[in-house]
Amino acid sequence: MSIYDTEVEGNEQYVLSAESFDGLRVVQRAIYVNAKEKGFHDVGRRFGDAVALILTELGEAFEAYRTHGMNAYFEETEYGAKPCGVGSELADVVIRCLDIAEEHRIDLASVIEAKMAYNRKRPAMHGNKQL
Ligand SMILES: [Mg+2]
Repeated sequence: MSIYDTEVEGNEQYVLSAESFDGLRVVQRAIYVNAKEKGFHDVGRRFGDAVALILTELGEAFEAYRTHGMNAYFEETEYGAKPCGVGSELADVVIRCLDIAEEHRIDLASVIEAKMAYNRKRPAMHGNKQL
C-alpha cells in the first residue's frame, strides 16, 4: 500500500513526534558520508556553490517536466539503471540540502520539525499573497 492510496486529510491525521524525524537524521548522515566518500567535500566547495548546485537541480526538474511531464523513467548507464524525471531531480534537491546541512552540522530534521509546528499555527493563506 502506498501513501497515495489514501485521501489527504487534515493536519490531525498526521501526529508527529520527535521520533518521527529520526529516520531523516540517519538519511542526512548517510547522504553526507556518501558525498564525502565520493570526494565532493574535498574540492573546496563554498556554501554559495552548494546552494547554486541546489538551484541547478531545480532547473533540471523543470526541464524534466517540460520534456517528460511527471513521468518517471530510467536510463541505462554503466552503473546500472539511473532514475530520471521530476521526482529524481527533486530527490537531488533534497539530497543536496541534507548534504549541506550535515556538512554545517545543522540538524535539519529538528529545523523541519520546528518549522512545521510553526506553520501549522499560521492562518490559511497567511501573508495574503496570490500564490
Ligand atoms: Mg539532477
